[in-house]
Amino acid sequence: MLPDGNFLPPMQLNCLEKEAKKRIEKKFSARTVTIGRVAHLTQPKQLHYDLGRAACQFRNQCMRGCPYGGYFSTQSATLPAAMKTGKLTLRPDSIVSEVLYDEKKGKATGVRIIDQNTKEVREYYARIIFLNASAFASTSILMNSKSHRFPNGMGNDSDQLGRNIMDHHLAVGAAGTFDGMEDQYYYGRRANGVYVPRYRNWGNDKRDYVRGFGYQGGAGRGGWGRGNGMDDFGADFKESLTTPGPWTMSLGGFGEMIADPNNRMTLSPDQKDKWGYL
Ligand code: SF4
Repeated sequence: MLPDGNFLPPMQLNCLEKEAKKRIEKKFSARTVTIGRVAHLTQPKQLHYDLGRAACQFRNQCMRGCPYGGYFSTQSATLPAAMKTGKLTLRPDSIVSEVLYDEKKGKATGVRIIDQNTKEVREYYARIIFLNASAFASTSILMNSKSHRFPNGMGNDSDQLGRNIMDHHLAVGAAGTFDGMEDQYYYGRRANGVYVPRYRNWGNDKRDYVRGFGYQGGAGRGGWGRGNGMDDFGADFKESLTTPGPWTMSLGGFGEMIADPNNRMTLSPDQKDKWGYL
């Protein structure tokens, strides 16, 4: 099951993924094969264009940062939106070392930062502070934010800060080559894969373990890079790699870990980072 919502039009399954979907859903009624849900603009609206964003170009280089703003990111979406208000001041090169707590007011009042170039330490104050430094860095900052009120780190009365670290397992799955459909291809490099939502321990499916897993994967045709694993050389070999290779499809399982308070992170009491803090 996947939660519903208001989505832009989905990216399309390619022909082999459609075939796999047909066969899997026919054989297993409780399983769904669908396109992944990604934060890419397939059909931008005016509000996206107003922020300087455009439709995804299907080049699958999102990890390098998207020059079109086709992929949601702070840089492409929320910072431009904040900038448009005229009330945003960006303070780059700033490394937050701790959140400041005012004992008299009984609340967080600001942050202390280190300028990464000058090493200058400064403090900034605000009515509301959002700590968005990612899971581990935000936790580190809170752990480093010690005060008389919070001797073990801000908000850590429960001693739960840094505990119950969860990831998911992966690399369990299967892949295969498909014979046929050699006259078919697909558009661009879709920045997305197929998804099989969890069906184990769900509804009428009961197992002798808790939770479950879903699958992620996709199908495609071999590109020129497949030559890396082949013993050959010369013009004919090079030419052969300019045409699409066979269809392959893979599916890999993803299951979340069970929360365990002993799976935790702590700050070293004597080793500091290069800034002399955490
Ligand atoms: S594939 Fe990724 S990098 Fe390329 S346009 Fe789409 S979102 Fe941007």
